[in-house]
Amino acid sequence: PADFAGQHITVAGLGVSGISAARALAGLGARVTVVDGGDGEKQRAAARELAAEEITVRLGDGATLPEGTDLVVTSPGWKPDSPLFAAAAAAGVDVVGDVEIAWRLRGPDAAAWLGVTGTNGKTTTVRMLASILAAEGLHTAAVGNIGTPIIDVVLGQGQDGAQPYDVLAVELSSYQLHWAPSLRAHSAVVLNLAPDHLDWHGSMQAYAADKGRIYEGNTVACVYNAADKATEDLVREADVEEGCRAIGFTLGTPGPSQLGVVEGILVDRAFVENRQQQAQELAEVSDIAPGSGTPAPHNIANALAAAALARAFGVRPAAVRDGLRAFHPDAHRIQHVAELGGVTYIDDSKATNTHAAEASLAAYEHIVWIAGGLAKGATFDELVQKSAARLRGAVLIGADRALIREALARHAPDVPVVDLDRTDTGAMSEAVREAARLAEPGDTVLLAPACASMDMFVNYNKRGEAFADAVGELTARDH
Ligand code: ADP
Repeated sequence: PADFAGQHITVAGLGVSGISAARALAGLGARVTVVDGGDGEKQRAAARELAAEEITVRLGDGATLPEGTDLVVTSPGWKPDSPLFAAAAAAGVDVVGDVEIAWRLRGPDAAAWLGVTGTNGKTTTVRMLASILAAEGLHTAAVGNIGTPIIDVVLGQGQDGAQPYDVLAVELSSYQLHWAPSLRAHSAVVLNLAPDHLDWHGSMQAYAADKGRIYEGNTVACVYNAADKATEDLVREADVEEGCRAIGFTLGTPGPSQLGVVEGILVDRAFVENRQQQAQELAEVSDIAPGSGTPAPHNIANALAAAALARAFGVRPAAVRDGLRAFHPDAHRIQHVAELGGVTYIDDSKATNTHAAEASLAAYEHIVWIAGGLAKGATFDELVQKSAARLRGAVLIGADRALIREALARHAPDVPVVDLDRTDTGAMSEAVREAARLAEPGDTVLLAPACASMDMFVNYNKRGEAFADAVGELTARDH
């Protein structure tokens, strides 16, 4: 493992991840300076706390590189073109993220990493994967972009008598991959690729290239989405270890070296144990989170991707089935909220971009769609075109709702639209009441905003909670 003792490390950003990295590195004996362009009360309080731990904090200047810096550690909010990184490059100093630090800290017997990235479905897939690995009896955790900071996970290995991990299910964002040059996963998947976060990466090409980093140096399998050619292209372009295989997943009948679905059964044609066998049955589609209703197609895809990584790691078919049965989706991801007067209310507040919203709109027949928020530069024509036939009505909220209204007018002129001219938090109650009015028995009222939430809410969690509360108010009045 890398030895950071005595190194002068500059951490960019006094946020949650910056503070955690600073503490971990100081704990390893590094001389740490945290720099931040802000200089507010909150930052000063954090600075005082860190000063007591002998961590230097420089506020009000996030651009100049502190004298003598050996290594810069980034935070997710900092764009690659930040002046601090240009200064580091000019001085010949490496810039890395938390994942790279964690990777460098691994010991010789460290757990293998199974990596998951993609525009949508990362968290769901990583949790499915961890559930499958646990069902195999392996000691594992879902880490990375979720849960305990990954540096802490690696440092915690074997400490205080903790049982070392056998394998980690690692969610990796495009930001983390951008700054993790030496990461080499056992196996990894890019679930899908659609425009998102282009403001950070600068272009779709740069975004795809960062996602593709997850395949570099894989030893056993590069898993791609057979329905998303861009992911397969990334596998082809990747420089992998000899013997590493390209494995596809598909919602249809699988080809050789693929996992897929045949008559409601998840089937593996990539890792068949005995050569006589054409395919290995893994689980039934209904085994996927059985408590949560019929799985949406994109969650079947996520399950196949998780199964592919688990099978690459040698997990038995029965453990795939048991792990998928034990899996519970996180909140605000196609979450069943209530059924009232024959109308089902679904919270997919986590659908913060058009690609995600398209997946959840594809999962229902007759939909009253609640949408809107911050568009982050997206366009809505394709989404509306593909979903128009399923829409019973639409209720629009949030700052960029006009973009969706115009797309609806262009491609779904017969769909009734209620445009709530509101961006206050209370708008959700009115939106749900309007949606209930438009819905008929058998319909689904679906919150799948296709937009970020920050114009109206603190985050997508709060938006989903507001939706559930509003549905609760309906219940109270109707009964
Ligand atoms: P991430 O961690 O990548 O944000 P999540 O698992 O939290 O992904 O899911 C985010 C949202 O994306 C979900 O609410 C759902 O609407 C959508 N989604 C999940 N999986 C997929 C997929 N494979 N393809 C398209 N959309 C998906």
